Amino acid sequence: MGHNGPKPDKWPVEAWRRCAPTVWDMKAQEWQVKARCELCGLRLRVDLNAVIKKKGRGFSLWNVRARCRNAVPEPFGCLGAMVFESRPPGASRVFRLACEEAGEVPPRMRKSPNWF
Ligand SMILES: [Zn+2]
Repeated sequence: MGHNGPKPDKWPVEAWRRCAPTVWDMKAQEWQVKARCELCGLRLRVDLNAVIKKKGRGFSLWNVRARCRNAVPEPFGCLGAMVFESRPPGASRVFRLACEEAGEVPPRMRKSPNWF
C-alpha cells in the first residue's frame, strides 16, 4: 500500500488480514479485538496477551469460532459460537475476523475452543 493507495477505511477485509495474520501482529499493532456470541449476544474483550501465552505467537483469530463462555442457561451454559471482530487501528468500522481466500476451508468450529 503506497501513499497513493486507498485509505484504510477502503481496504477490503483481505488487506486487514494481510496486515495482521496472527495474534502477535495484532498485539504489535494494538488491535482491539472482541468476541461476540452469535446466539446470546455476549460480548467479551479479547486479551491478546492471554491468547499469545496460551496458543503461541503464530495463532490466528481469523476464521475461528469458539464455544461461548456464557454460563447461562444452566446446566450447560450457552451452546452458541463466538466470532471475533475488531476495528483495526485507522479503520472507522468494525470488521468480523472472517476472510475466505481461494482454496481455504470455510470458518468452522474448532475442536479446541480454549482461546482465552
Ligand atoms: Zn452465547
